[in-house]
Amino acid sequence: MIRSFWQARYGAGFPDRDAVAHHQARGMDRLRRRIMGRSPLYAPLADRPVEDWPLMDKSRMMRDFTAINTCGITLEQALDVATKAEESRDFSPMIGQVAVGLSTGTSGQRGLFLTNRRERAIWAGVMLGRFWPQPLLRRQRIAFFLRANNALYETLGNALMQFRFYDLLDTFEGHIPRLATQDPTVLIAPAQILCLLAQAQEARALRLRPCRIISVAEVLSPEDAALIRRAFGVPVDQVYQCTEGVLGYTCRAGSLHLNERFIRFDRDVIDLDTGAFCPVITDFTRESLPILRYRLDDVLVPDPAPCPCGCASVRLARIEGRADDILWWPAAQGGLRMIPSDAIRQAVALLPVPVRDYRAIQHGQRSLHVWLDTDRPTQAATDLRESLSRLAARHGCTLPALTLHSGLPVETAPKRRRVVALP
Ligand SMILES: [Zn+2]
Repeated sequence: MIRSFWQARYGAGFPDRDAVAHHQARGMDRLRRRIMGRSPLYAPLADRPVEDWPLMDKSRMMRDFTAINTCGITLEQALDVATKAEESRDFSPMIGQVAVGLSTGTSGQRGLFLTNRRERAIWAGVMLGRFWPQPLLRRQRIAFFLRANNALYETLGNALMQFRFYDLLDTFEGHIPRLATQDPTVLIAPAQILCLLAQAQEARALRLRPCRIISVAEVLSPEDAALIRRAFGVPVDQVYQCTEGVLGYTCRAGSLHLNERFIRFDRDVIDLDTGAFCPVITDFTRESLPILRYRLDDVLVPDPAPCPCGCASVRLARIEGRADDILWWPAAQGGLRMIPSDAIRQAVALLPVPVRDYRAIQHGQRSLHVWLDTDRPTQAATDLRESLSRLAARHGCTLPALTLHSGLPVETAPKRRRVVALP
């Protein structure tokens, strides 16, 4: 824990790509020697090239859970413990020294994860090292909004911090008085909750004075980041984290870097123009449930420019969201072209009339529905139609049949997605 804390807080980062390659070669070596041999599924593959390992994803991970984990825990045992914890909202599900967690992705598909003490310590070290406010020895009050608590996070409470868990399944209004009492110095929550808190703060229902705000669990859009910053007067940091690990976080210069100290990222490129890719990750630090050659559904857009912070880890221009959050419009010369959700966001943001929020939902290749929450829907609709046509022309595409709606659609998904592509 101390080592990862120190590295995240004071480490200079990788000076160049050679340093990344060198570090990762050692990580892969350790993985092969010390971890793979303990997993029934991976033991026979420890000496084989990475390309021979099975390509993993969430459903295969669930199916082969018993053979993948190195703790001898069966899928039934893990599910049983995790489901009971979820129902009772008493989150200390452990099997021996191993904590069991259950996650629900945007797709609603469930994923299990395991962490042992060493993994929890490394995680805590990185998070505290990177995000603990100055000065180091001042006691901090941390508010953490999460759908389910987990022993992973309970690791954190101690003399230097008061750690309070806010259950996302409780009503939002119920959190307000508790938050006011706690008066947190560090606020950690999904972007959507941070936005609600920012609105409450602007409406003076809350008067929080956090010195750090960290967005987790879902994509932080630039407009959300701006709203949160305006309400609280501090910039928002972002941790790109999922069941599968800590994939990236913002550096001191404010850019999002991939966590190449822990993870090797192979790329499944889905768009040659932007280099947008779905990451295929291999994590050197996870040992209870190894994450090897695991393909995520997220679409990442790399930023080739070097970061002012000096670290050579891959820098991201943005996380586009999940693969099914990407719009593809028919190209004039045939085929489909990727329209980044960022382009839609900009088209809305640049409308002459103010828009509070929006959704863009494409059905197949032919029909696009856009909802605009604004006081002047007719004007906004006309302007947006024009600006999306220009966008299509710029990308050499035809704009799908566009239907504009006033207000926002009814949403039931646990995570907000502004841009969605349906089959
Ligand atoms: Zn940086």
